[in-house]
Amino acid sequence: MTVAATRLPVIAICGTTGVGKSQLAVELALHLSKTAPNRAKIINADAMQCYAGMDIITNKMPEAQRHGVEHLLMGFKQPGEQYVVGQWVQDSMKAIEETHKQNKIPIVVGGTSYWIQHLLFPNRLSQSELHVPAGPPELSEDVVHNLASLPPELLDLFSSLPDHPPSASDDPTLALSLHKLLSRLDPEMAMRWHWRDTRKVLRNIEIVRETGRIPSLIAGEQSKERVKARYRALCYWLYAEPDVLNPRLDARIDEMIETGLLNEIKEMRRIATAGSNDDTSNRDTDYTLGLYQAIGYKEFHEYLTTQDPSDRLFHESVDSMKHSTRKYAKRQISWLRNKLLPVVNEANTEDFLTPTYVLDATELGESWRSRVLDPALRITDAFLDFRELPDPKGLSSAAARLLNIPRRPVDPISVLQARRKIICQTCTTDPEQPCMIEDGTQWEAHRTTKVHRRLASKGTRVQMQMMMQAEKQAERRMKRKTPQAPGSLGSHLPSVLVK
Ligand SMILES: [Zn+2]
Repeated sequence: MTVAATRLPVIAICGTTGVGKSQLAVELALHLSKTAPNRAKIINADAMQCYAGMDIITNKMPEAQRHGVEHLLMGFKQPGEQYVVGQWVQDSMKAIEETHKQNKIPIVVGGTSYWIQHLLFPNRLSQSELHVPAGPPELSEDVVHNLASLPPELLDLFSSLPDHPPSASDDPTLALSLHKLLSRLDPEMAMRWHWRDTRKVLRNIEIVRETGRIPSLIAGEQSKERVKARYRALCYWLYAEPDVLNPRLDARIDEMIETGLLNEIKEMRRIATAGSNDDTSNRDTDYTLGLYQAIGYKEFHEYLTTQDPSDRLFHESVDSMKHSTRKYAKRQISWLRNKLLPVVNEANTEDFLTPTYVLDATELGESWRSRVLDPALRITDAFLDFRELPDPKGLSSAAARLLNIPRRPVDPISVLQARRKIICQTCTTDPEQPCMIEDGTQWEAHRTTKVHRRLASKGTRVQMQMMMQAEKQAERRMKRKTPQAPGSLGSHLPSVLVK
């Protein structure tokens, strides 16, 4: 790509669900189109809205509200078709290039901030995230070596991994075995994840299987290169305070149900059932992935499969869907703050910035216009004209608070090492279920907890008693003049207590 091309603008809008991202994108596009007809195109960055149909569960903006603004990468995948982040990044890069060629401005908008981050800041994806793997990979020497040294039960586990991460509470044995397996394949990566974090543990083992390479070595390679922005991008984060957003999300779910959510879920179930009975379906079809991860599908599973379901079951399903939605919104905020912002900071250099603004979308109506739309129009105009931009932290108190993050390294290896876990020998009563604590502040905090201190003092007492017993035994032996091998005194103490 030439230098000139990288100077072409990209506007990105991220944020939680239910804050008016799509509306802002359309308003921005219409505003820009005042100077030239259809001057902007919207590129969808919502993993669920890539799928065709199912407009309610995927929260697609109704055609009428799009006001003729062209939306790309929207509704073009079939339910059950896999579509991974790397494929979307490739597709959206193409869409951006074509939009630029037409002298138009791409506005990337969606709740899948993870996608937007990898679009704006390249070189942080593993091979298996770049495309759906087409078959077994070639194994690297390290992987061959580590596999050869696995005990049979772990090798079996590696060749028949569970489809879904097990719950560590329901199946601690499997959770621990997976962690053991990861420790043998990639000790450095295993230190990073608690054995209870089965989703990450399993994901890393899958990376070994899909790429034939060791995940921490992939991270090491990526860390050699400093993160750089791919585009001259302007980034908006629409934020709403959770105590205001949550009731709004609840109300939206009630509305979704009224407008036919259950019919859509029934239709999805019908497609999945028909598809899984069809031998000719290709390997990219998986009815547990893609659209089938949309919030609501799983939550209504029991209700829709029970004969004569009760009202109570219905209300429980609704509550469960509301709960999942709130949790998702919380995760989205945490991603933006803890992942995206640090990467933006890291990539920023004196002569190449990615200006990033938090817009306070807590209130809708007039406040939304004055706090979200008006500043966005002003800032976008200034950005496109290469004029000076306002200080992001000065925009609102929410902006000042959310943008105030400590600077910390974001390269994959530093992230791995910063969050490595220590096994607390004191609190590990069952060696099969190690007590793992994150190094650093969490470890310091752990050492002052009541539980740890109580166990530590108990440990010391036991150690003292054992020392005294051992001494008495030694004295008795001395009296009996039994010859003693030097240093054998210590060997009476269990190794854990010796430190
Ligand atoms: Zn402890």
